[in-house]
Amino acid sequence: MIPTSSQLNRYEACRGAWNVERDIPPSPTTPDAASGTTIHAALDTGDTRSLDVDEQQTYQRCQEILMRCFPYEMLSKERRFFLVNPTGKTVLSGKADLIQLDEDSIHIIEFKTGRNAVPPPMENWQMLSLAVMAWEEYRPAWVHLAIIQPWVSFEPVTAVLTSHDVSQIKQQLFTLLSDIETSTQRTPSLDACRYCRAKATCPKAWGIVKSLETLPPAQWAVNLNTCELAQDIIDAVRAGAKTLMLAGAKVPGYEIVYEQRTTYRGGDLQMILNRGAFYGLNIGNFLPCCKLVAGDLRKTIAQSAYLKGAELTRAIATITDDLGETKTISKMQRA
Ligand code: SF4
Repeated sequence: MIPTSSQLNRYEACRGAWNVERDIPPSPTTPDAASGTTIHAALDTGDTRSLDVDEQQTYQRCQEILMRCFPYEMLSKERRFFLVNPTGKTVLSGKADLIQLDEDSIHIIEFKTGRNAVPPPMENWQMLSLAVMAWEEYRPAWVHLAIIQPWVSFEPVTAVLTSHDVSQIKQQLFTLLSDIETSTQRTPSLDACRYCRAKATCPKAWGIVKSLETLPPAQWAVNLNTCELAQDIIDAVRAGAKTLMLAGAKVPGYEIVYEQRTTYRGGDLQMILNRGAFYGLNIGNFLPCCKLVAGDLRKTIAQSAYLKGAELTRAIATITDDLGETKTISKMQRA
């Protein structure tokens, strides 16, 4: 088992994490991670049939930025690279979403489909290590790195590396990899622990949860950061226990129960209306059973009328004028 590029930033933040978590099975996939995988698969194959409305929009935004900014020859998609150290040992693997060729340059392009910005290419070990591994194979004069994150910006975040830059980064990368292979030092932080498979049982991570007892209540920013990490750790304990129970283990006082929730969407609604006519269902008594979420209407009009920004807002205001029920809720999020 070897580390992968996408984990390197958090291993840099906690050098001992690789050794702790390497033998722990992966945590259950979160809905956000599953959605990201689905969108990446569609970007790879062009088949969008499995995407929901929100994922369709993310897909289209990614494609729009790609077409506008990267009109180069496609070299490979979803290509996995491996890095071999000077002693001949394979020490890292990493998969690039897209590799494009432009004369004596290659472009490494990564899609990030989440709502939060990821570190820019020069601070992002996933991008830097992909640059090293792709350069080893293609030996271009220039390596262009680009992150397309359509919910953060309509412009890609880019960086350009010369062969000399890549060679320096390669040395730093070997140092980092050798460090994380041998280190036992655990350094908890939100960035390091959030996706660490060891967080449910790591004493250092639990130390952060316990520190909530002694933090001065008025230190809101520190407390909120700590709460966020504490919540992640608690979620990991729940997910770990559930995985064990699904595999047949007994946890005293708890059991797995199954409940079904059915939602009817799109074409289902028309079919139900047609079939229900025999039982007296008509548009007048059927519509009150249906709910339309404002965000879904906005996405649908954006796609059907090719509108965005202020124009889209005006169209929605015209359509929904004085209709609907609007509640104002306050929520706290990271600035
Ligand atoms: S839980 Fe946090 S502190 Fe513990 S090994 Fe993982 S990243 Fe390091």
